[in-house]
Amino acid sequence: MGGKSRHDEKKAALAALGRPLSRRARSRCELCEANQGLQPVLLRASEEPELENVLLLCGRCADVVRGGRIDAPDDLRFLEQVVWSEVPVQQAVAVRMLARVDAPWADVTRENLWVDEAVQALADGLDPA
Ligand SMILES: [Zn+2]
Repeated sequence: MGGKSRHDEKKAALAALGRPLSRRARSRCELCEANQGLQPVLLRASEEPELENVLLLCGRCADVVRGGRIDAPDDLRFLEQVVWSEVPVQQAVAVRMLARVDAPWADVTRENLWVDEAVQALADGLDPA
């Protein structure tokens, strides 16, 4: 099997997560709750897609998660809530995203935040596909 078929396998595995993922996400972006342009994003490129390493995200959140520029930090204020999510993968991605936000509300959120070690390790290990 070459690289391409592995890639296709991963895409198929990602697609197969559609229903349980939509259920967890309530068919909304798992970060900002937008309901347009949703796509499953694998957060550790080297792993097989599972519910624990995939988020359903809108186009904007997917772009920021993949390292895209943050043009309007105040549009990301939903992070104030999501960094307290009880779903580890949601919390980890929100923590990682918050670390890049340059805004007073983000400073306050970081100061008050408490994240357990497992989630911090997950956040540090993110490598979105
Ligand atoms: Zn979003």
